[in-house]
Amino acid sequence: MGKTIKDEQPRVYFDCAKCPAYCCSIYDRVQVTRRDINRLAKHFGVSPETARRRYTKQWEDERVLKRVKDVIFEETCMFLDQETRGCTIYHARPAVCREYPAHVRCTYYDMLQFERRQQQDETVVPVVQITFREVKKKTTDNGGATEKVWEWEPEKP
Ligand code: SF4
Ligand code: SF4
Repeated sequence: MGKTIKDEQPRVYFDCAKCPAYCCSIYDRVQVTRRDINRLAKHFGVSPETARRRYTKQWEDERVLKRVKDVIFEETCMFLDQETRGCTIYHARPAVCREYPAHVRCTYYDMLQFERRQQQDETVVPVVQITFREVKKKTTDNGGATEKVWEWEPEKP
């Protein structure tokens, strides 16, 4: 029996064109692979070594895109157009940017819409920054009764 092939895109509940580009700005790092660097090199017509040096930096054991001061957030990706909030290297952007957010919803877009409704202001931009800390639970003695509390790992220098 014949099979009908449908070319339907899954519906998404966010619109990057109406977002100040949280994903390009609030993470400390946008990881790049060797393939990403080669793509950047081709895009800018330079050698992979030049692209690596010019557009990326070392972040702990990862290679990441360089960042610059931003007009909205503290910093953002060097390739973000700070006026339009769009990617200036859209067709040469790294794989992680292509995959993000990998769901039909984007948490940051939901938060933006939520705050705009709460503030009754369609122009407001909630500014957040995301960073990752390691935590574990430890047992403490609270006046004879024990309880489990979160213990923060010290920040990395
Ligand atoms: S934060 Fe979400 S809605 Fe905003 S640009 Fe990134 S993926 Fe798009
Ligand atoms: S390369 Fe483009 S999509 Fe990726 S973080 Fe930078 S501006 Fe955003």
